[in-house]
Amino acid sequence: MPFKPSYLLPVLCAMVVSSTAVAQSIFPVTRADLLAGSHFDFKVEFSTVVDPAQVKVTINGQDYSKVLGKSAELVAREDGKEVSSLLLRDASIRKPGLYTVEASDGKSRAAVAWRVYATAAKPVAKNVILFVGDGLSIGHRTAARILSKGIEGGKFTDKLAIDDMPYMALMSTQGTDSIITDSANAAHAYTTGHKSCVNALGVYCSRAANTLDHPKVETITSLAKRRGMAVGAVTNSEIEDATPAAMVAHTRRRSDFNDIVKMFYDSKIDVLMGGGSPNFLPKSTAGSKRGDDVDYIDLFKQADYKLAITKTEMLAAADDVKTTKLLGLYNTGNVDGALDLKFLKKGSVSKFPDQPDVPEEMAAALKVLSRNKKGFVLMVESARIDKYSHSLDPERAIYDTIMLDVAVKQAKEWAKAHGNNTLILVTSDHSHAVSVVGTVNDEEPGTEMRNKVGTYAEAGFPNYPAPGAQGYPDKVDVSRRLRLTFGAYPDHYDTFRPFMDGEFVPTLRNAEGVMVANEKYKSIPGAVLREGNLPNKGARGSNSGVHSGDDVVLTAKGPGADKVHGQMENTDLFRIMADALALAPQASSTAAKARKQ
Ligand SMILES: [Zn+2]
Repeated sequence: MPFKPSYLLPVLCAMVVSSTAVAQSIFPVTRADLLAGSHFDFKVEFSTVVDPAQVKVTINGQDYSKVLGKSAELVAREDGKEVSSLLLRDASIRKPGLYTVEASDGKSRAAVAWRVYATAAKPVAKNVILFVGDGLSIGHRTAARILSKGIEGGKFTDKLAIDDMPYMALMSTQGTDSIITDSANAAHAYTTGHKSCVNALGVYCSRAANTLDHPKVETITSLAKRRGMAVGAVTNSEIEDATPAAMVAHTRRRSDFNDIVKMFYDSKIDVLMGGGSPNFLPKSTAGSKRGDDVDYIDLFKQADYKLAITKTEMLAAADDVKTTKLLGLYNTGNVDGALDLKFLKKGSVSKFPDQPDVPEEMAAALKVLSRNKKGFVLMVESARIDKYSHSLDPERAIYDTIMLDVAVKQAKEWAKAHGNNTLILVTSDHSHAVSVVGTVNDEEPGTEMRNKVGTYAEAGFPNYPAPGAQGYPDKVDVSRRLRLTFGAYPDHYDTFRPFMDGEFVPTLRNAEGVMVANEKYKSIPGAVLREGNLPNKGARGSNSGVHSGDDVVLTAKGPGADKVHGQMENTDLFRIMADALALAPQASSTAAKARKQ
């Protein structure tokens, strides 16, 4: 069991120290797990302007500079304020063990404890594919299984590919600032192994004024690239959105989209696919969302990336054996979800008729990335499970869960055909408050829709047609359909029906700035006004459903998957990937470096 909380003892000691004095903030924060040899920024924030002669910062009793190999800059007045900070960029510790960091300005002291861990000297897996169903919750999973597999004799006729994996765990998703996470710090936990706060990517949340100045931690993209591996991220969200951005980004603010595009470029990530092209275009180009005149499409092309803006172009680029770098931008916004893309042709499908779905993106990415003989790390996101859950649109969320399942099935087949040396991990970044509570049966008498809801025995079974080859029923507006409910919502009209004309827009902001139910749905027969149970005005006002703090499920298959079991922290997923790929420096070099210290 690799995750014994053996560092609790020094943490307890640290609490004793800090409880007797005014605490400084130290980054990485207490109880951080650091991959040996990974890079991180070390920062101590003092609560006043300090006398440099009085500052004492030690790690395990030694001056910090001896352990970290270099000295930090003491910033006398950080951001012009009456506070000092000690800041050391790009530190690392190669020797595994427990580290207690103590900081004093002569008047007050604080301490934190870190654990530095090694990995095996040799990788057990050549490749890692990490699937993220954004917002995927137990309710979506069960609903997708009902639509995609069906039930006979009370038993599902088959398992979903995401469930049919030998190892499973529950993961908690909480962050350093809150019990509820967003997709930024949640994905960051997977790609760096560190906890952080809402909206943060690749950084700890310090008091720095500039969003790009916060203490950084290294991403799996950087670690894998240092090994000469290929890295990819494919999604159906805008590519600058939080989950794919977490593969490379270091910013306190996930909406720094233009900076994130630069970070993608600087990271040299090999495959990048999704929507969100306007942040790549110079501001002089119509439709650009950049504030400068840098043409990132052109820069990527100059750096030998093939560019694809349609599925047809993507397939051709991936089939070309010379393609080792691929940038795919298929929509100005998000790529359309499965229900619109394949069946209803709503959303932006008429404007972008040749978009790939996530499994098609993944297949293309696998072709390109596997040309690197040192292996690859690929993150595959079905992003709109989350977005459609925010918009209280159950059918679209369920179809995109099935789409995730199609991709996982294909990945398992790919791994089997390519040496069985690929670790496949399937999870979510956080949950939504969604549950399957029964069915809605139009055949029930009366006009009140709530009296057509069947619970317990009256729920029976929905009458969706048998799914097609990929697992999607080709009709969603059936007469007896799933009732998937949301537990946290703004004011909206509950229509008890799928939204055949496009994604549900539950709420609009009125002239007074209050979130009110969208009257567009009022005239739908049987629609009922639901008074929201979330804040509806001011900065807290919510126009959509919200994330829940429930644990998420992680399933795994392939070499290294046996470490997935029980209840884990989301940061442990990073460690499982790092272990499988042996991303820490090898034992011999660790020992040599340790002797030097
Ligand atoms: Zn979300």
